Amino acid sequence: MTAIEINGLSKDYLTGFWRKKPRRVLDGLTLSVETGEVFGFLGHNGAGKTTTLKILTSLIAPTEGTARILGSPIGTPETFNQVGYLPENPYFYDYLTPDELLDYFGRFFHMTASQRHERRETVLEQVGLKEFRGTALRKFSKGMLQRIGIAQAVLHDPQIVLLDEPMSGLDPVGRRDVRNLILHLKQQGKTIFFSTHILSDAEALCDRVAILGGGKLVGVGRIADLLRRESGYEAIVECDEPETKRKLEALASMPAVSSGGHFRLEVGEDRVMELHAICAAGRARLISLNPLRFSLEDYFVGLLDRSTPAAVDRTGPHS
Ligand code: ADP
Repeated sequence: MTAIEINGLSKDYLTGFWRKKPRRVLDGLTLSVETGEVFGFLGHNGAGKTTTLKILTSLIAPTEGTARILGSPIGTPETFNQVGYLPENPYFYDYLTPDELLDYFGRFFHMTASQRHERRETVLEQVGLKEFRGTALRKFSKGMLQRIGIAQAVLHDPQIVLLDEPMSGLDPVGRRDVRNLILHLKQQGKTIFFSTHILSDAEALCDRVAILGGGKLVGVGRIADLLRRESGYEAIVECDEPETKRKLEALASMPAVSSGGHFRLEVGEDRVMELHAICAAGRARLISLNPLRFSLEDYFVGLLDRSTPAAVDRTGPHS
């Protein structure tokens, strides 16, 4: 079943002194996320990620387009119960303890006292904060606050969890904790849709990603497919003989780079046998041979170079 279905979603914000100037920050986004997926929503700052998440949680209305969560239109009671949301940089009242905070949020979802107690125990265990349940939040680190934020988002046991930049601003330990939590939620069969501009987090976690640039979808797919590259290999060769070096250079598909007595060259798949033969004949040592692969970063930068920059001003030129 499709967990999230987004169809032609656009958003114009009214800007300017009299708020009369519509500025399109999300432009015809169409996307679907399957149940059980960890889906990464990537894009530079200002790409429109938070705007999309706010529309999905009905905090703001779209200018155009529709979205459905588990088959129901967004904003209906069914979707409220099925969605958990962690906003970017959540702020919780400093003097509350995790127990008090979660009890408070449980009331929003009309949970009975025993349901609140049971879910509190479960989620505090899940996010590893049971021993801090009575500690005021003002004493929490950023990573702990993010974990209590996730506890809040999953308190009512939703099927879909929306996380806005959950790893941003965390130290390596905090990031690892949040990554593990996301994987734990996936094991429970939840669908996780999270925005990020940290590509390594997306690489580590996501089944699929969508890339947003200037409010438009510029790429979507499985990370493995997005990163697949024309067949070719990177070879590192140790070689002193000028004649062998010349032959290797002639073989390379890109200019070879030499450093510290080593040669780095890229060769096409069909030239690998030749590479071996030249190395064997010329007493060169083949140190490593690895398939070429784009990093998500290369892919991302390549796509954004080709996409529309910045958001679109719908009113045309102004004096
Ligand atoms: P992201 O989450 O990808 O960083 P956002 O969705 O927060 O992007 O913002 C997209 C664009 O919309 C940005 O240029 C931002 O300044 C603008 N924007 C966000 N909220 C508002 C608002 N309430 N009014 C006007 N412009 C806004």
